[in-house]
Amino acid sequence: MLNRSSIVAMKDPNEILLENEKAFKSLFEHATISILVTDENGDIILVNPNAEKLFGYSKEELSGQSIEILIPEPLKDIHRQYRQQYFKAPKARPMGLGKDLFARDKNGRTFQVEISLGYYKLGDKKMAVAFITDVTERKKAEAILRSSEETTRLIMNSALDAIVCIDTEGCITVWNPQAEKTFGWKESEVKGSRLSETIIPIQYRALHEAGMKRYLSTGQHKVLNQLIEVTALNRQGKEFPVELTIIPMRQQDKDFFCAFIRDITERKEAEQRQKEYAEDLKRKNIELEQFAYVASHDLQEPLRTVSGFVELLKRHYKDHTDENVAKYINYITDASDRMRRLVQDLLDYSRLGRERILEPINCNQVVQEVLSDLTIAIQESQAVIHVDPLPVISGYATEMKQLFQNLISNSIKFRKPGEPALIRIAATPKEDHWQFMVSDNGIGIDEKYWDRIFIIFQRLHTKNEYEGTGIGLAHCKKIAELHNGRIWVESTPGEGSSFYFTIKKRSTDSWDKAAGGTK
Ligand code: ADP
Repeated sequence: MLNRSSIVAMKDPNEILLENEKAFKSLFEHATISILVTDENGDIILVNPNAEKLFGYSKEELSGQSIEILIPEPLKDIHRQYRQQYFKAPKARPMGLGKDLFARDKNGRTFQVEISLGYYKLGDKKMAVAFITDVTERKKAEAILRSSEETTRLIMNSALDAIVCIDTEGCITVWNPQAEKTFGWKESEVKGSRLSETIIPIQYRALHEAGMKRYLSTGQHKVLNQLIEVTALNRQGKEFPVELTIIPMRQQDKDFFCAFIRDITERKEAEQRQKEYAEDLKRKNIELEQFAYVASHDLQEPLRTVSGFVELLKRHYKDHTDENVAKYINYITDASDRMRRLVQDLLDYSRLGRERILEPINCNQVVQEVLSDLTIAIQESQAVIHVDPLPVISGYATEMKQLFQNLISNSIKFRKPGEPALIRIAATPKEDHWQFMVSDNGIGIDEKYWDRIFIIFQRLHTKNEYEGTGIGLAHCKKIAELHNGRIWVESTPGEGSSFYFTIKKRSTDSWDKAAGGTK
């Protein structure tokens, strides 16, 4: 603090001048800015060490030289003119305001500079002081920043997502063109206003504000950095579903939140339609199964009556001379037998999977049982069956046995005439399911029937060519679907067919490595 005694002790002016000169010299020597002093003719009088370093000349080399030695060739003349003008009305000011200034060093490198000009007079000598900063690096950084800003702007403008950013007060700072489309408000209308009062439905506003507060004070959050589905509000006050990701960001010590938002109205509607369709289909399927069950069950009764009376007729007309009568009765017997089988098949089909219990099934054992049931057919057809090791799966035992039984017996039945059937049964583990294969060298199936054969009672042959009702593969399809799988065929007519079906994997599934073999 200044007090009386300090005023009394003040130094004399000469001493102050001397000290000022010392201080100025020290400043000049150690300044991190480059300083050049020229006279009115532009001849260099003084150069500080930083200027020596910047231009690569020693002060001895520069002393007495025209300042234009430090100006790139094409700019020398114009600089000379500026310099002369400056000395006509000299004052301290930045040089070349709004213009890019360039200097040149001893090696001929041209670089961008910023210059502040000072003026002073020593006696009648006019002098200019130039404070020079090399701004090459800064300009480069500015250019990078400009180009990254440009990139950001491009991304914002072309993004398919609405991009909305808010500051820690919850006020909108960024609102890209897609946000205008999604919500109906122009950027100029919402920038600066509170997000919770624009696109957040009233019932969620308090939740949003509380969540933001909690994050800012504790760092805890439930919804950041993940895809979430919420409801948003548009300009017309209509609520609609969106999916979004909110990312907390920090720039220049400021926190803000950016949300990438997508209108999913159409997707949700499609999902809803899909769901309704699936439910409708399920209901219809159940109805149909019930119908098939009731119908086939009820049909059995009159059929039994018909068969009973045909049997009576047969006995009654055993000795009838008209052979047509016997022929007709045989036709009726065949037809009613066939009808009984069809009705039984239908009944089995509709019963399939009822009261089912999921249990571990060793497919190797199941296949061995099937092969033993089919021993006669295998022997008669001289079929060679190779079974690869099969897994232990979770499934419905009776149905799985039936599935293998139908595919294997078809492979035997549809063998090429005069050639023994070669059949291979295998399984491959896939990511979330097992893929089974039953492959043969039989008559094959034309590609145009690959879907049709799985439809109930669809056959490609007459019953005289190959026995059957055409329900086996429909059963297989239903069984695969009961196990959350599917079934399909790949085949070359005349060469053979490969039937594939999948069964959903469960954590308890495994391989039975000891299994497999040829029968
Ligand atoms: P079905 O065996 O009683 O005729 P399926 O539903 O089992 O009924 O089979 C439907 C049709 O698919 C068969 O009639 C046959 O034409 C064809 N098919 C099934 N399996 C094979 C096979 N392994 N090779 C060639 N054709 C087959």
